[in-house]
Amino acid sequence: MKIKDIINNKKVTVSFEVFPPKQWDKIANTKKIVEEMVKDKPSFMSVTYGAAGTTSGFTTEIANAIKEGGVEPLSHLTCLTSTKEKIDSVLDELEANGIENVLALRGDIPKDFEMGENQYFHHAFELVNEIKARGKFCVGAACYPEKHEEAPNMDTDIYWLKKKMEMGAEYAVTQLFYDNRKYFDFVERARQAGVTIPIIPGIKPFKKLSQLSIIPKTFKVDLPEELTQEVLKCNTDAEAQQVGIEWCVQQCKELIAHGVPSLHFYSVGATDSIREVAKQIY
Ligand code: FAD
Repeated sequence: MKIKDIINNKKVTVSFEVFPPKQWDKIANTKKIVEEMVKDKPSFMSVTYGAAGTTSGFTTEIANAIKEGGVEPLSHLTCLTSTKEKIDSVLDELEANGIENVLALRGDIPKDFEMGENQYFHHAFELVNEIKARGKFCVGAACYPEKHEEAPNMDTDIYWLKKKMEMGAEYAVTQLFYDNRKYFDFVERARQAGVTIPIIPGIKPFKKLSQLSIIPKTFKVDLPEELTQEVLKCNTDAEAQQVGIEWCVQQCKELIAHGVPSLHFYSVGATDSIREVAKQIY
């Protein structure tokens, strides 16, 4: 089933993201995690695509495991470091496996990367266009309530989001955020700029003391002062996890009340927190 139909059909759906393993010998372990996660009956589950396509084969393998578990898979695909031939072959593989949903991404720019002669895609909107041209896939794109780090300002970033929509992106999934106000403001600005597709909030429950520095650095987002202060009062990761669950429950309740199309959980390493959050919001 296509994700645009899933999010149009039900009230507020819940979806999860998983990572494929980096090495083939870990694939059985990831499949076990998937087997557990599908039991919670998310409306879809996304599988990330490794930078530079390193784990590209594993993405389809895990997407298949999700499908076998009775849940709709969403396969991520990045393009910057790939040739057109590579992208074509991944799309052929997804099509052959009956995978209907792709999240079209550029991918981060690797250190010291230079566009080679065989590289074809510079930005995600070109990949959206390429995938849509096949006429088979429902395509989503990424967006950033706190602005993508390379964008000079939010208006420019939203301009390029709109371009992805014009090329055929049917929904967007946000980078994770902890301050709903940032998401609400972003959606409002995107609507004013003519972005009409559903914008699915990406949520990750805060879990460990070390994430106070890791999350802002890795995802280029701010942690609200109130959350930071609550975490600073904690002595253990278990206490920080509890604070994270409570924060996430409040976030989700407010987002649902606001009429968001869906909640997408970045669930790697946080499935126990997400189960607890789900218990409290439904
Ligand atoms: P783009 O839409 O190309 O945007 C990148 C930057 O370029 C932005 O600043 C934008 O404003 C600007 N821009 C866009 N088009 C143009 C243009 N024509 N001219 C000038 N500037 C332009 N990474 C992975 O490696 N694997 C994954 O599986 C993965 N999954 C993700 C899922 C989500 C929901 C999100 C939010 C991110 C994910 N990422 C993943 C990270 C993503 O690849 C990076 O954030 C990357 O740096 C940007 O990708 P994009 O698709 O948003 O790129």
